[in-house]
Amino acid sequence: MRTDFSPEQLADPDTAQSEKVLRTCTHCGFCTATCPTYLLLGDELDGPRGRIYLIKDMLAGAGPPAADTVKHIDRCLSCLACMTTCPSGVNYMHLVDHARRWIEEKYRRPWAERALRRLLGLVVTRPSRFRIALRLAILARPFARFLPARLMPLLTMAPASVPAASPADRAGVYPAQGERRMRAALLAGCAQRVLAPEINEATIRLLTRHGCEVVVAPGSGCCGSLTHHLGQEAAALAFARADIDAWERERAAGGLDAIAINASGCGTTIKDYGFMLREDPAYADKAARIAGLARDVTEIIETLGLGAPAPEVAARRLRVAYHSACSMQHGQRIDAGPKALLAGAGFEVVDVPEGHICCGSAGTYNLLQPELAGKLRLRKLANIARTRPDLVATGNIGCITQLAPGAAAPVVHTVELLDWATGGPIPRALAAVSAGAAGQWRGSARTARVPPNRSGSAPAIR
Ligand code: SF4
Ligand code: SF4
Repeated sequence: MRTDFSPEQLADPDTAQSEKVLRTCTHCGFCTATCPTYLLLGDELDGPRGRIYLIKDMLAGAGPPAADTVKHIDRCLSCLACMTTCPSGVNYMHLVDHARRWIEEKYRRPWAERALRRLLGLVVTRPSRFRIALRLAILARPFARFLPARLMPLLTMAPASVPAASPADRAGVYPAQGERRMRAALLAGCAQRVLAPEINEATIRLLTRHGCEVVVAPGSGCCGSLTHHLGQEAAALAFARADIDAWERERAAGGLDAIAINASGCGTTIKDYGFMLREDPAYADKAARIAGLARDVTEIIETLGLGAPAPEVAARRLRVAYHSACSMQHGQRIDAGPKALLAGAGFEVVDVPEGHICCGSAGTYNLLQPELAGKLRLRKLANIARTRPDLVATGNIGCITQLAPGAAAPVVHTVELLDWATGGPIPRALAAVSAGAAGQWRGSARTARVPPNRSGSAPAIR
């Protein structure tokens, strides 16, 4: 694609970088066929090629972007299906990330939109605030019709109840069972640990059972992904720097072989820290090092080798529809590994038709673009139903919260199944179903708990 940025414009490192990306696009249009928003809306400007043209014109222009340009870029899910399809290797992720920052800096949204986006960035990323907000949302539900329509998705997406905080949220070291073969820092995260604390608990049990010492480093928290996708770059980089500092301290103190991540949206961002902080002389090297250590938890278990499945779980041959999150399959190019692990754990794994199409979760997309997200959700649920599964597995909390309320089968995290199959408790979502399903899974239920950390049975804050 031809570009004509001025030397002054190219003096900005972000614009210079985006120009390189733009020049790799041959406008062949292959990517359009796999774009979920093009599929739904049939408008070239709601497909990747159209957005690339819009971004080029926006970055080349002097003033704030046009409202129509912002509309089409806002409708992009950042699902990155276009990157998987593109034969020319166009890095659409870096381009659209830059576009979102540009819009955030130069465009004045209507006040309600501004307030909502600010609220999401300030609340969802902080577990204590998010927990309070969810409780308030639950209380406010009966009065939903009196509240601004823009807040409706926040109320409808809130769970029926908020789980208690887990000991696994606190900083601590969880020793490996048997010989220590690896040492990994677990990303404690933000929204996931509030909505589904059992995922971090299952991850710690699974990793320690397979010989990996797990550390939840003091000072680590949100990875910055959520604010990054909102274009709130200063906040995103502050989260990234805090995590990098926490993990660098841990690396210096006890060594680290990996950063273990169990939310693929976060994994995509942390693996990109080196790029995000490339212009920061104080952090560029550290960020690249941390990005190089980042692994999805299934990648770590692949390295360690999965233990033999418990006979009582394997004997059931439960049929698992594997929903490959976009950030897993397109963002990190991880697809076969989790399915092979589930098959090795004794499950019958089936692919979901149209598996490359996003479920509509996409971080905060389902809150900001509820109509499009709702259509993608229904489409995904219909495709999942076609596989007639006993349960659905995925590696991203966003997809779980998007799909679980309407799915006919329980939706669980992949690590919960791997943990259950190798000696852990039955996943909470399955336990709830089993209670009303003639004890289908009851035989192997154990007490769900996180293993003691090095300080004893009550995990300590270090
Ligand atoms: S497939 Fe790649 S090269 Fe072709 S239009 Fe899309 S982004 Fe450009
Ligand atoms: S990231 Fe997804 S929604 Fe956005 S242009 Fe690419 S395929 Fe379409």
